[in-house]
Amino acid sequence: MLSPVRLALLAGSLLLATAAQAQKTYLHCGRLLDMRTERARSEMTVVVENGRIVAVEPGYAMPTGAQDKVVDLKNRTVLPGLIDCHVHLEGETSKDNYLKEFTQNPADVAFGSLEHARKTLLAGFTTVRDLGGSGVNIALRNAINRGQVVGPRIFTAGKAISGTGGHMDPTNGYRLDLMGMPGPPDGVANGPDQGRQAVREQYKRGADLIKIASTGGVLSVAKDGSAPQFTEEEIRAVVEAARDLGLNVACHAHGAEGMKRAIRAGVTSIEHGTLMDDETMKLMKKYGTWYVPTITAGKSVADSAKIPNYYPPLVTPKALAIGPKLQGTFGRAYKAGVKIAFGTDASVYRHGVNALEFRYMVEAGMPAYEALRSATVSAAELLGQTGSLGTLEPGKLADVVAVEGDPVQDIDAMQRVRFVMKQGTVYRQE
Ligand SMILES: [Zn+2]
Repeated sequence: MLSPVRLALLAGSLLLATAAQAQKTYLHCGRLLDMRTERARSEMTVVVENGRIVAVEPGYAMPTGAQDKVVDLKNRTVLPGLIDCHVHLEGETSKDNYLKEFTQNPADVAFGSLEHARKTLLAGFTTVRDLGGSGVNIALRNAINRGQVVGPRIFTAGKAISGTGGHMDPTNGYRLDLMGMPGPPDGVANGPDQGRQAVREQYKRGADLIKIASTGGVLSVAKDGSAPQFTEEEIRAVVEAARDLGLNVACHAHGAEGMKRAIRAGVTSIEHGTLMDDETMKLMKKYGTWYVPTITAGKSVADSAKIPNYYPPLVTPKALAIGPKLQGTFGRAYKAGVKIAFGTDASVYRHGVNALEFRYMVEAGMPAYEALRSATVSAAELLGQTGSLGTLEPGKLADVVAVEGDPVQDIDAMQRVRFVMKQGTVYRQE
């Protein structure tokens, strides 16, 4: 016979078990793109429990428990939560952006990032890779994970790394006494040893991956936007140090030589890749390197550069020369068979319109379904998260979006997000 204490414990655990199972959500999906196959299925039910998908069934299944809920998405196309593999949640483009470095405290950056994170999630992007900021992005990730603030699931690079005067040197363009000599803790590394130290520093601070710049960039206050800024030996040291710690390396690059060095050194992805030549594409296929195109950013910087004094004088010509080339490069890379994961460089344009990228991808010759794959299945693979993200299947996290219209027929439907669920919690429902 069980003692009263044992009985009470047993009753307690039964109650807990019932509570845990109590609430299921039944999503009645008019059209379902589960992304496992190319075929859309109509009249399906996705059942969600404890933040995960527990069933995907034909027909509109009805709840069995009293606590269960039904969400009517019968007039919608339902897809897995979208993944943007290149954002910067800390900032956003503005005419006074370069001045903000001198006027904003980390707390100001943090409050600003909350709005960017919220807009991103409500646009259907339930997961992002944050490819560099001051480190506030690490605190933001943690606050979102704790449920204290609303935003996408973040995989962050913390502070990005480059050489002295390189694209990620935080004091480019400052006057001498402010410029100082930033080093590995500031994301500036020269030589393999400093490269390793810079990687370990980001790891110590809580980064999920490493971001480097192997060539110049558009928005840094420096003359060149495409020449190599790391030796292959330096990149190899970064990649090896990162790999030892279980971190992937994303590499910003515009010029072909800097890309080739990075690909041979083993980076996981090339970001932008603007001046990619045929040889570079072959090399990417050989090494299995991902391409994250960020076409939206290219178009946006070219547009902003036409506004007088929007950018510093050193930046404007780079924006005009490099920006418009990205879409064409993407089209060639797709046709060449390079692996592509969706990424937009949100912050270079305003947060929350990330889905514009789909239109640009389709315009450049990628079929709509492939573009959707790049932001779901492929992006999950790049993140190393295929076990939990990227498709709507039992066992995966319940990241679900629904749009008005059929994006396979009209890709701009991706800009009409009407429902967003992240890990079982509904953040948007219209
Ligand atoms: Zn970027």
